[in-house]
Amino acid sequence: MARNVLVLNCGSSSIKYQLVDADTGECAASGIAERIGEKVGSVTHLRDGKTYTYQGRIEDHAAGLDIIRRLFEDSRLELTDAGVVAVGHRVVHGGRRFTDPTVLDDATVAAIDELSVLAPLHNPANVTGIRQARKVFPDVPHVAVFDTAFFRDLPEAAATYAIDREVARKYEVRRYGFHGTSHAYVSGKVAELLDRTDLRQIVLHLGNGASASAVRAGKPVETSMGMTPLEGLVMGSRSGDIDPGVLFHLNRQAGMSVADLDTLLNRRSGMTGLAGVNDFRDLHRLIDEGNTDAALAFDVYCHRVRKYIGAYLAVLGGLDVLTFTAGVGENDALTRAAILRDLEGLGIRLDPARNAAASREPRTISTDGSAVRVMVVPTNEELAIARATVAVI
Ligand code: ADP
Repeated sequence: MARNVLVLNCGSSSIKYQLVDADTGECAASGIAERIGEKVGSVTHLRDGKTYTYQGRIEDHAAGLDIIRRLFEDSRLELTDAGVVAVGHRVVHGGRRFTDPTVLDDATVAAIDELSVLAPLHNPANVTGIRQARKVFPDVPHVAVFDTAFFRDLPEAAATYAIDREVARKYEVRRYGFHGTSHAYVSGKVAELLDRTDLRQIVLHLGNGASASAVRAGKPVETSMGMTPLEGLVMGSRSGDIDPGVLFHLNRQAGMSVADLDTLLNRRSGMTGLAGVNDFRDLHRLIDEGNTDAALAFDVYCHRVRKYIGAYLAVLGGLDVLTFTAGVGENDALTRAAILRDLEGLGIRLDPARNAAASREPRTISTDGSAVRVMVVPTNEELAIARATVAVI
């Protein structure tokens, strides 16, 4: 009997889902509910190469889950008969308390809700999704898998901000790291493919959100996201690293409030802020049309990633494998080439033909003689969540 896990990733206005066989990794169905709470929402459900859709108002997450359940039925897959053994929830912030996948009950859900002070943009939506999903699917265990978990053992030197230690302690201000499920999955896959446990790795998760990690022998030693998923690389609509003095300046000179600054850095920055688009396919089109804002945005983006590669090379004291993953990392050969341009001095030599070849499989894109192996490994957070879920039920 298949051990299917319904994996849910609830955002503030969306639910991404996949029904995954935790043993084979096979995905029986997947989809996304979008624009929940807006006038018109939609659900797109994929099963056996066919697309099933819903258009119309989706009141809240509970309504979204109900529509998803109906689309499962329309696609001849009754969730109740599909051998669903558990629901696995992606939860962004586990704070210091949750470092392992956790079977959910009322008390743990309440504790995750309390962590919303650390992740006000993410945890509330995760908790809403969990609460509704427990009502819609009451007969199976629900498990939370935390984005921060992989980075729980980040060395103190990497996890500590250099601010007043009492303030930091009282308000739990430290670097937690995010995208951990992806960094763990991808670095683990690389170790498995190369059959080596001692590797020094850099993983570049370049999607709409973006983060880098340095991993030594399977343990993370650095990562670019910090107390929140705002620090580090330039992202779709987030600034990444910025001098905190900019915030004081904009507060004093432009009268921007905390809420204004939050919106500026989280939603009106990154590629959206610099070029007006967050999707790299649009960005390349604009660059081809001669748009200088887009060209600068691309340069800023690649420059930031290169800075992190150099820093992590020093942190690791050398490098065996550098891996690209997520939407941009897996698909965008131009961006990979620009990031790794002229790094032969660091032992990084990209093979142009291997880099340009499109594939859905893990692959090496460096030359045979490159001292550092460069790979592309598609991430699979849903499978990682499904496996973590069945491991604790
Ligand atoms: P998230 O999970 O953070 O929403 P993804 O990892 O799915 O993000 O990445 C989405 C991004 O990947 C898109 O915004 C786009 O910039 C980029 N992307 C996806 N496909 C391609 C492609 N074929 N070429 C270039 N960029 C792509």
